[in-house]
This record gives sequence, structure tokens and C-alpha cells, in this order.
Amino acid sequence: MCDNRRDEKIIGGFIVKINKHFLDLQDSYLFSTIAKKAAAHVEANPDAQVLRLGIGDVTRPLPQVAVDAMKAAVDEMGVAATFRGYGPEQGYPFLREAIKAYYAAKGVDLAADEIYVGDGAKSDIGNILELFDKDNNIIIPDPVYPAYLDANIMAGRKVFYINGDEGNGFLPMPDAIAVKPDIIYICSPNNPTGSVYNRGQLKVWVDFALEHGAIILFDSAYECFISDKTLPTSIFEIEGADKCAVEIGTLSKMAGFTGVRCGFTIISHNLQFDGQSIGKMWMRRQATKFNGISYIVQKGAEAVLTPEGLAGCGENIAVYMDNAKTIAKTMAELGIWHVGGDNAPYIWLKCPNGLSSWDFFDKLLAEAHVVGTPGAGFGVKGEGYFRLSAFNSKENVAEAMRRLKNIL
Ligand code: PLP
Repeated sequence: MCDNRRDEKIIGGFIVKINKHFLDLQDSYLFSTIAKKAAAHVEANPDAQVLRLGIGDVTRPLPQVAVDAMKAAVDEMGVAATFRGYGPEQGYPFLREAIKAYYAAKGVDLAADEIYVGDGAKSDIGNILELFDKDNNIIIPDPVYPAYLDANIMAGRKVFYINGDEGNGFLPMPDAIAVKPDIIYICSPNNPTGSVYNRGQLKVWVDFALEHGAIILFDSAYECFISDKTLPTSIFEIEGADKCAVEIGTLSKMAGFTGVRCGFTIISHNLQFDGQSIGKMWMRRQATKFNGISYIVQKGAEAVLTPEGLAGCGENIAVYMDNAKTIAKTMAELGIWHVGGDNAPYIWLKCPNGLSSWDFFDKLLAEAHVVGTPGAGFGVKGEGYFRLSAFNSKENVAEAMRRLKNIL
């Protein structure tokens, strides 16, 4: 520990050094540009009904059982006998037991103390990097959820891409890796492409990580949309994953918790690097920098994972997946190349007539009053592709597809 406060005083005041890696970030224009373009279109076309299939946020309300549980928890907090202050840093045992049971139903056996409750996948995805040396090579699929890249750029890490393309169905495999792999991100089902790795493919990834001493950060944010029973919904369904993978899950898309906030990270006791338990390191990190999520939200999350809560989630998921089918069917009818939509709420399509992502966005907005997401916003390999989201009402999706058919 050194006290160099005096040394830093220079003529003219103190100089604070910023983290220069922030200057390496690309400005995230994607969603602000989409919002600006949509707003300008609405202003210019006040009578048009603009339909939004661009967002990755859910639109349907919470399962009633979760609402009731949170209301009851609020009442508990207002009574001295049941009031609660700081909760256990790892999450209340009742919620960890509920998550454990959710995984047991998939055939994944976890200990409750291998589950760390947090405020959503995004925070844990970024924060877990603190456990690993800056010099590790980071492997990121392209296209993918942009937070992986930005979190690593902020930390000044070396990022290498594995490319998704039509040839691999936007599911890159380890044979595309030309550097020593250290930290590998896998997002399955993938945002934005909706592609899902099958069991054999995930086994290849797990074996690869074990062979190279690498760690897989597995983002299962969209696992609840997988209906094909042959597809894995957790990396821990694959033998050996306990020794090389961390899984980051969330109730955001499954239960409509994007605004409520509740996620979890699973780290097996068997996950060790450099002789250190990654779970213990994560616990230490969380205990230092995080004070948990509210009792109220954890009671809501517990209710989500009851049979009644899961049934409520299932009803919402069924609406979204019905929309996804409508979109995929329309693409098939139009002869447009696409993936996703079967086991994910996103349909990833090739922009027709060789249009760029943004040109197709402009065409859809101008001619059909439909907002989507340009694929270029998810990585270089997303250029020329486009994401349509199933998070909307059945009526809006049907109308959007009718308009697309008219203009294409
Ligand atoms: N992971 C992926 C792949 C996502 O698409 C998103 C949000 O869209 C998240 C994580 C963030 O999830 P959370 O709301 O739990 O932070």
C-alpha cells in the first residue's frame, strides 16, 4: 500500500488518470439511432401505426403468482416482526433452493451453495471478469450480445472473434480459434441470431475448454424458449462442464423480470484454476462489492419457480413463440434466408436484394412502418443481416408480417 497523494499534486491541481480503455469503445449508436429514426418517422407520418419488432425487451406482464408474492413480501417489510434488512450475500436460501429444483428438473444436480443470486445476467457477465488476469485471451462470437465485447474493452483485454455465418448456421465452433483460448463466451440460444447449440456441439466446446485449460462463460438468458427436448438448456447438461464453465442465468426473459431484476450465476465447487476455487473468489468479490437484491424481488423470483409460476411464464413464452413462428413462416414464404425462431424469440434474416442492415432498416420503416434491428449492431459479421423480435402482441406481429409481404 503506498500513499502517493503528495506526488500527484502538480502545478495547476491534481491529475486524475482515467481508464483510457473507455476511449477504445465504439459509441453505441444502435438503439439510440433506431429510436431517433423511428421518432422522426412517426413525426413525418402521424397517421401511420408504427410496429416495433426491434426491441429485446419483453412486453407481457409478470405471472400473477409473482405479483402476489412480492405484495406479501412488501407487507412483511412493514411489520417489525417480519422486517428484514441486509440479506445473505449469496441470496436467500429459499431462492437458491428454488433455482436448484429448477435445474434438478432439467437433470442438472447442483448444490444450493453453487448458486449466487444477483440482479441480472448483465452485471454478472461484466463483473466476473474481475476474477481473471487481464492478459487472458477473450474469445467472443460475432454476432452476439454487445455487452460481452464492451465489458472486455473497458478492462483493456485482448478480444478475438469467432465468426458466425450461414455456413455454420451462426454457431461458430472451436476450430475457428487461432490463439490460445482463455475465456470463451457462449450464448445459446444466441442473441441476436436465435441459433442454439446442440448437445454434440456443446460437448465439443466443453472438451475444447478442458483440453486448453480455458473457461466458458455460458449465457443462458434465453434457455426458457427452447422447446426441442433434444437441445441442452444448460451447459451443465454436458459432462465435464462443472470443471470448465460458469453459467449465467436470468429471470428477465423467462418471467418478465427485465425491470424487476433477478439473475443468478452458477459455479461448481469443481471449478478451479491456478489452485483457486472460482466460486470462493466470486463469493469474495460479491461480498465486497454487492449487497444482494431485495427480499421482495427474491420472494417474487421464488414464486416464479413454483409450478404455478412456471405455468404463468409458459403462457407468456407460448405467445412469444407463436409470434416467432409467424415471423419465421413469413420469411420462408418470402424465400428469405433465416435462422432462429424455433427455440428462441429472435429471427435472424438475410437482408433481401443484398441490402445492408441499415438500408433494410430504412426500407422497412419507410414502406411498412415496421422497426427491426440492423444486424451490424451486433458485430461485423452481422452486416447484411437483420433481427426481428417476437416480443410483441400477436396482432402487431401478424400485421407487421402482412405489411412485409406487401413490400417484399
Ligand atoms: N444476456 C443476453 C444474451 C441478453 O440478450 C440480455 C438482454 O437482452 C442479457 C443477458 C441481460 O439480461 P439481464 O436483464 O438479466 O441483465
